[in-house]
Amino acid sequence: MSELISINKRNFKRGESGIVELKVGRIPSDTEIDIEAHVFRSHEDGPTVLILAGVHGDEINGVEIVRNFLFHENFNALKKGSLIIIPLLNVFGFINFDRYVPDGKDVNRSFPGTFNGSLASRIARTLTKHILPHVDLVFDFHTGGDSRYNFPQIRFSRNDQDAEALARIFNPPFIIQSGMIARSLRKTTREMKIPTLVYEGGESVRLDGLSIHIGLKGLKNCLQHLGMFEYDKAGQKKENTRIIKKTSWVRANYSGIFIWIKSSGQKVEKGEKLGNIHDPYGQKSIDVISHRSGYIIGHNNASVVNQGDALFHIGYEYEE
Ligand SMILES: [Zn+2]
Repeated sequence: MSELISINKRNFKRGESGIVELKVGRIPSDTEIDIEAHVFRSHEDGPTVLILAGVHGDEINGVEIVRNFLFHENFNALKKGSLIIIPLLNVFGFINFDRYVPDGKDVNRSFPGTFNGSLASRIARTLTKHILPHVDLVFDFHTGGDSRYNFPQIRFSRNDQDAEALARIFNPPFIIQSGMIARSLRKTTREMKIPTLVYEGGESVRLDGLSIHIGLKGLKNCLQHLGMFEYDKAGQKKENTRIIKKTSWVRANYSGIFIWIKSSGQKVEKGEKLGNIHDPYGQKSIDVISHRSGYIIGHNNASVVNQGDALFHIGYEYEE
């Protein structure tokens, strides 16, 4: 562990804590937008862990998990290492209830970023330059995009064995190996050899109690495992975790009003009916059938769908 963590000319020695404001730009009203990084350092050697949310501005379950942790945790009890906590990276998206920054770009497709690029690229660069060089491990909290609900799950990059081991400690209902997306944060951290756990839970712009509960519990499981906090062990029941190797979407084979029968978290068999799509005139009703046996790891909450829309995300080839 380094003696000094220096973020944008602000120095933190061992045992020091504080908030660093990282300027990322202005909105048209001339209001300056800062990213707040909360730094907590113990006196003892240990990992520096980044706890991050709001890479997508409307994925508020992640923001709430990190806010809740920041609000309730006793950071004086940090036993070793350091924490850098950023509850909201894409401030622009958050104030617009939007996944993206105002020009429509995705921060999580803009890494490692540049300081003279698009707004998304500038936000990405701020994290890559000022924060990531200090970090040994990343927890990145997300939610399903648009109206898609993700049943609580950890995603990690194939061959990131440290992340896989820690994902089991996190103990979510599902753990999913997933490929690397070009210009994503996870690709940049993989290149920097920083193990990264991406948590997905719930849907955008809607708080989900289950996702918040499992996210907070998982984060604490990991921090305890790393020896950074000691939590009361009572009531820490281990849940079933399924490791999913492959996933595939069941898509709408018709357009109309979508009513689901099965929902996320449930086990389904190939050929089983998952829902119906009705035409609005009361004439037709088309079954939505699972093309795989496995678990539903996410579903679409949209009530009116078009042909080809993703309806159910099925995880198959799994270990119980
Ligand atoms: Zn996201």
